[in-house]
Amino acid sequence: MHSIFKPTLVIDKTKCLNNIGIMVGKAKGLGIPLRPHFKTHQSLEVGQWFRAYGIDRIAVSSVPMANYFATDGWDDITIALPFVPQQSSAADELAKRVNLTILASTVNAAYEISQRISGNINVMLEIDTGHGRSGFNPLDSNGIEAAIHHIVTNENITFTGFLTHAGHSYRAHPIEIEELNLRAFAFVVDLKRRWIERFPSISASYGDTPTSVLANSFEGIDELRPGNFVFFDMQQASRGVCNTSSIAVALVCPVIAVSADECKAVIWGGAVHLSKDSFLQPDGKISFGAVCNVISDLSWSSPIDGLYLESVSQEHGVIRAKNSQLLRNLKEGDLVAILPAHSCLTADTMGEYFVIGQGIVESFRKRMLY
Ligand code: PLP
Repeated sequence: MHSIFKPTLVIDKTKCLNNIGIMVGKAKGLGIPLRPHFKTHQSLEVGQWFRAYGIDRIAVSSVPMANYFATDGWDDITIALPFVPQQSSAADELAKRVNLTILASTVNAAYEISQRISGNINVMLEIDTGHGRSGFNPLDSNGIEAAIHHIVTNENITFTGFLTHAGHSYRAHPIEIEELNLRAFAFVVDLKRRWIERFPSISASYGDTPTSVLANSFEGIDELRPGNFVFFDMQQASRGVCNTSSIAVALVCPVIAVSADECKAVIWGGAVHLSKDSFLQPDGKISFGAVCNVISDLSWSSPIDGLYLESVSQEHGVIRAKNSQLLRNLKEGDLVAILPAHSCLTADTMGEYFVIGQGIVESFRKRMLY
């Protein structure tokens, strides 16, 4: 077995390719281009796996992350986070090499963009279709009109439409998703319909993992933008979006203390590795990760019934067992695999992967540290 001497984020490439293939197949079946959000994996290597499936457009979170993927030939990039004016000159520079789209989510942001950007850049308006995070209220016609007005005063900028992330799908029960989805995407499709006469090439960009996986109708949407599906995680599994067998990453952790009598084991694997995100188990208890056995090639078993990651502090994770018997065979120096609650955050904090059968693969986060 590859020697593991610290918490290590392992990718099961077979599962990952399967997740990519299913989403690519679904988007193809719907006739909607897929623009996967690469902030989940942040890795050139994993990006190449997408390219092998014909993906040619991506979403990222910042100009530096866009630059990172541009070095590997990605040339159609949307920064799907409201634009940070301080990144204007870097965006201008990048726009000389790639087809770059940025987002405005307030009238003032649209004004700042119009004043500061001098490169050939596309701007979309972010619409809040129920998530409550950022974006225009879809019914705020005056605000939307004012923002578009600012954008088009800059001749270098092209207004390219409306984008939304229906993040409230994470709060919905699977049976509510189809209806939530219909309501959410209707807002951006409707806005596109209203503005298309004046701007004939505008589009409606939409996407999150729960709706992309569970919903079936996306009529009028021009691109789908999910990200998490590449790895999935326990938040998705606990909400019925995926099975635990589809989760393509696990944090392999050394066991540092076992107290079977106290039904407790401590691992080196805490908040700095997994993040502090959690999920709800069927019994209502909060968990920070599902506990699995590590198998010889660093792959992992299905979650062990009766064990869960009860708490995380900076470096430590505490595994709680339903009964002491479940810990009898575990000892200090063993390895366990933790399926993360939220793989995007775990991938970000870890900054590199061990790909089964391949070895260490860096990500953007790791590069940022140098
Ligand atoms: N688009 C935007 C604007 C997002 O913020 C996110 C995730 O936060 C995504 C797409 C991808 O959604 P998910 O992580 O549910 O796949």
